Amino acid sequence: MALPARPGLEHVAAYRPGRPPRPVVGQASHKLSSNENPYDPLPSVKAAVAAQLDTINRYPEMAAMELRERLARRFDVDPNCLVFGAGSVEVAGQIIHAVTGPGDEVLFAWRSFEAYPILTRVAGATPVMVPLDGDGRHDLDAMADAITDRTRVVFVCNPNNPTGTVVTKDELDRFLARVPDDVVVVVDEAYVHFDVAPDSPDGLTLFRSHDNVVVLHTFSKAYGLAGLRLGYALAPLSLAETLRKVAVPFAVTSLAQRAAIASLDAEEELQQRIDELVAERSRVYSGLRRLGLPVLASQANFVWLATGERTEQLAAILEAHGLSVRAFPGEGIRISLGDPRANDALLAAAAELSVRQEA
Ligand SMILES: *Cc1c(COP(=O)(O)O)cnc(C)c1O
Repeated sequence: MALPARPGLEHVAAYRPGRPPRPVVGQASHKLSSNENPYDPLPSVKAAVAAQLDTINRYPEMAAMELRERLARRFDVDPNCLVFGAGSVEVAGQIIHAVTGPGDEVLFAWRSFEAYPILTRVAGATPVMVPLDGDGRHDLDAMADAITDRTRVVFVCNPNNPTGTVVTKDELDRFLARVPDDVVVVVDEAYVHFDVAPDSPDGLTLFRSHDNVVVLHTFSKAYGLAGLRLGYALAPLSLAETLRKVAVPFAVTSLAQRAAIASLDAEEELQQRIDELVAERSRVYSGLRRLGLPVLASQANFVWLATGERTEQLAAILEAHGLSVRAFPGEGIRISLGDPRANDALLAAAAELSVRQEA
């Protein structure tokens, strides 16, 4: 006999992690399915984590004071505006749990980050998904039109996962002007470090100028700490207090806190890696374009192939080359940037996609 579960959860599919690559004989395999940082952790960060190991019999410091003050100084914000979680996905969950109840709506573009509909349904709220425009970009006018008196939270994922597209500062300003003051707008900047578009919005500036804007950041992507789970929100003070109530106590480990501080100490080194990834993105993008593949311009650490009905077939070819990618049947394939060797392998495998496409 199945034990009872809360009604509604039968419609929720558990989050699907990026797959590891399938080993192929005689070929190196590369995991390009989870937007992870392909570089090994920095030696200084590993040393900081190792030095903290002696304390793991103790609970972590719950307020993460040192990291909190460090980030507060860096962003010039009140330290109490910072809310931490086990990855920014946990903080996104805190926001939805803190603000919504049954019948309330959480609005976001689709396709966007797969965690949004899951977190929304788990909280008992209703996801409202507004299709991206034909270029894989947020349709902010349509999103503003979709706001109702039940809308409590809006996510704007910028750059958008999985299409890599960005909204402009002007577009987001116009959108925010149309959003009622009591609706929380979460600007999810998980990939902001990779965004070099000159007209992109700056979440911090929006946080300062709007009382309903929350910015989400993570140490998982540009900082390469996905395995340690640490993300945070910059939230208006009153909301930040509420978020702390719904947070899982001690979710942010002492190792994660140490690693984050050591990463902030190593920002120049990390920036070099980001610059390399951004250069690799141009190379991969041009290579895929030259092959005639439907690749979108990306400001993130991945690219999107709008392969439509051919998605599963083309993804299978990449998988057969030892490259794990994230395929969304009927829509497209998200491919994380890897190190130069992985990207070479991608371009070599992609040559086969374009040949097959012409056939
Ligand atoms: C990866 C990602 C996150 C955060 O991941 P965490 O590892 O939980 O910090 C948040 N938003 C988007 C859009 C992402 O792609």
